[in-house]
Amino acid sequence: MSTEGAGFSLSGKTAVVTGANTGIGQAIAVALSRAGARVVCAGRSPIDGTREMIGHDHAGVLSITADLSTPGDHARIVEETLSWAGAVDILVNNAGIIRRNDAIDFTEEDWDAVVDTNLKSAFFLSQAVAREMIPRGSGKIINIASLLSFQGGIRVASYTASKSGLAGLTKLLANEWAGKGINVNAIAPGYVATNNTEALRNDPERYKAILDRIPAGRWAQPSDIAGAAVFLASPAADYVHGITLPVDGGWLAR
Ligand code: NAP
Repeated sequence: MSTEGAGFSLSGKTAVVTGANTGIGQAIAVALSRAGARVVCAGRSPIDGTREMIGHDHAGVLSITADLSTPGDHARIVEETLSWAGAVDILVNNAGIIRRNDAIDFTEEDWDAVVDTNLKSAFFLSQAVAREMIPRGSGKIINIASLLSFQGGIRVASYTASKSGLAGLTKLLANEWAGKGINVNAIAPGYVATNNTEALRNDPERYKAILDRIPAGRWAQPSDIAGAAVFLASPAADYVHGITLPVDGGWLAR
């Protein structure tokens, strides 16, 4: 048993982050890179902004163009990462979408699009990565969940279902893979100023109602979420399995 594993350095590690061109995924990719990791950004949009934020003096950045809702892309992400870096040490399942409508009018299209991207894709990419991690006996998988992994929300039926499902999946995968050296955990961000919450932030009443309920007295910036990802990706979290860690300015404590 290692007694010196409690460090936060990711030096020599390779991390795959989905949806790292913007928002929370971008902040996590930058933070993992600053902690020493090589970073693979897997997504459907160019990552010029992320590369610029990471700069040139870090371990390296690879961009893989992939649509996470296309199952065939999962194995390719792993293959391309292996040929670039030789291993996948860390996976951050961050890519996600939201659709808003009253439950009574919610369409099958809005259900399938969200559940496929937020939940199905996280499972099958985790499976593809774990097939590489398990033989090596180590790895970290971090799912980006939500407050709606704990609460019901309103007008976001498929999002709540997907994020509640993701918290359950995090526990299931931890149960199956903890004994194989893989840590599976999740982060539940509070309200973060990103594209995902643009509609909420543009609605002055909803914006104020949310702000008034946050004990920290402010919405989060994407960088507020990134430290938890560095922790869960690091040796410091070697004995942490199956949790969904809120990073929410105290929202759930209220
Ligand atoms: P965002 O700025 O909209 O970022 C979402 C990311 O997911 C983008 O990079 C997007 O790519 C990517 N993505 C979506 N569908 C994809 C697909 N089919 N294939 C590949 N990439 C895809 O929103 P965010 O707030 O940073 O969201 C990141 C994660 O945090 C999501 O899982 C979200 O549910 C979760 N979250 C956000 C908040 C919040 O308050 N913002 C709170 C809790 C949880 P494109 O740019 O190409 O669309």
